[in-house]
Amino acid sequence: MTAGPSSGTPAPAHAADAGPHRAATLEQPRGDVLHFVDGELVASAGQGWLENVEPATGRPFGRIARGTAADVGDAVAAAVRVRDEWAGAPAAERAEWLDALADAIEANLEALAVAEAIDNGKPVDLARSVDVPRAVANFRFFAGAVRHRRDEAFIFDAERAADTINYVLRRPVGVAGCISPWNLPLYLLTWKIAPALAAGCPVVAKPSEVTPLTAHLLGVIAREVGLPAGVLNLVHGLGGEAGAAIVAHPDVPAISFTGGTATGRAIASVAAPMFKHLSLELGGKNPAIVFDDADLDLAIPGVTRAAFANQGQICLCGSRLLVQRGVLDRVVEGVVERARAMGCGDPLEPGTRQGALVSEAHRAKVEAAIERARAEGGEVLCGGRRPDPASLPERVRDGFFVEPTVIAGLGPTCATNTEEIFGPVVTILPFEDEDEAVAIANATDYGLAASIWTRDLDRAHRTAGRVEAGICWVNCWLLRDLRTPFGGVKASGVGREGGDEALRFFTEPTNVCLRLS
Ligand code: NDP
Repeated sequence: MTAGPSSGTPAPAHAADAGPHRAATLEQPRGDVLHFVDGELVASAGQGWLENVEPATGRPFGRIARGTAADVGDAVAAAVRVRDEWAGAPAAERAEWLDALADAIEANLEALAVAEAIDNGKPVDLARSVDVPRAVANFRFFAGAVRHRRDEAFIFDAERAADTINYVLRRPVGVAGCISPWNLPLYLLTWKIAPALAAGCPVVAKPSEVTPLTAHLLGVIAREVGLPAGVLNLVHGLGGEAGAAIVAHPDVPAISFTGGTATGRAIASVAAPMFKHLSLELGGKNPAIVFDDADLDLAIPGVTRAAFANQGQICLCGSRLLVQRGVLDRVVEGVVERARAMGCGDPLEPGTRQGALVSEAHRAKVEAAIERARAEGGEVLCGGRRPDPASLPERVRDGFFVEPTVIAGLGPTCATNTEEIFGPVVTILPFEDEDEAVAIANATDYGLAASIWTRDLDRAHRTAGRVEAGICWVNCWLLRDLRTPFGGVKASGVGREGGDEALRFFTEPTNVCLRLS
């Protein structure tokens, strides 16, 4: 290997000169999804393939390489080969590569947004304004974070003034295994890859097999940019095959996982006895709490967006709407009116606000949850069914749509109000006072996020301190500062991502105690 962007970094695999290259413009991505292993785009060693289905049409549009333990083994071997060089490169050089990836993603924003909409069913406007810009921001943020990182030192002066200094060396933990879900495919994948690479860890990642297209394109981009071979590896395929092989691999000492709570539990049962670093970002059943004194012009659009953004398929969605009785009628009326107005449409058409659910299986799961709500005595105030095919553009008549659904009349402890649905379904739960709001909010096993809508900042502060959640928004939702800790409590996860928390996760501290003579 020869020198990288400045010096010391492994050489780019496909670069004639040393530094990052400008990535070529991506073509319309409807072909095969390939692994990116050791700097090359490759099919599976066993030549296995999975079908890639477009959720808005219900039709297959490509093949996905079906990764096995052998593919994961190749990827880990490549990562191990460059591990020490990548870890030893100056942080500024790693940051330069991250910036190059960010620039290349940004230059291909349109192609990536279209790919995300095709693969996931989400409105292309959303992918254009949120998913892809956030992937850019993830790389830029962690490039900046390692450039400006401050190290810890502790001056100890018990015996004489400042005679002992402790300082903390943070060494990259090694190969990072990153496993991500289908709801925000590129956004959440890069939220893991960026801090791992920035911290000095080569990556072996497995995106969800349900939405692998933008991860494939990230491999294309990394190759075009000339990222050193082996530093980033992407293996596609099923969770129980490729994902499980990453988790169990002895040369992967850190696993960063985002997905369902049951999967997180299965992963922990393998990784914990191996004493791996483990970050688990899991499911949620998040309360949106509207008090009588809330600014309803802000709260009603806010909680509606929190309920239905990305078809309700965001772990942070406010799927339980808790409303104080004094404003119950106005809030319910406002949310139902907005939900009805959203409609469902072709994700690729500008202006579409509700796209398709991610897969036929997931739609069946959401529909079963709506049926269960009815069986539990819930009243469906709007939605609760598939849209009339005649109301949809012809191209998407066979897509996996469910109308935005509002359900009332159920108590806080029934299954509908305690189990994650992860679809365009919100339930209404009235409350009398602050104590009752907090009791309802905390009546699930989950504890990911909450939003509180009130003009009384004392009450907001008090409530935020009592709600069991890792993230609490007041008079807003999904406003993200990437420096803040991100993650959940209880069954919503272990550990935090974001800012310093993520960089700490991918490093191993050694405290050096230096006695000055
Ligand atoms: P899953 O848990 O089903 O899958 C997540 C990822 O794990 C996928 O890549 C999956 O592969 C893989 N996987 C599945 N089984 C294993 C295994 N045994 N070992 C290793 N990897 C495995 O979640 P979904 O993709 O269905 O995503 C939805 C869930 O994610 C929801 O519960 C949601 O709340 C949660 N989520 C949490 C977030 C958070 O920050 N807390 C953010 C976003 C989503 P494959 O797809 O091939 O099965």
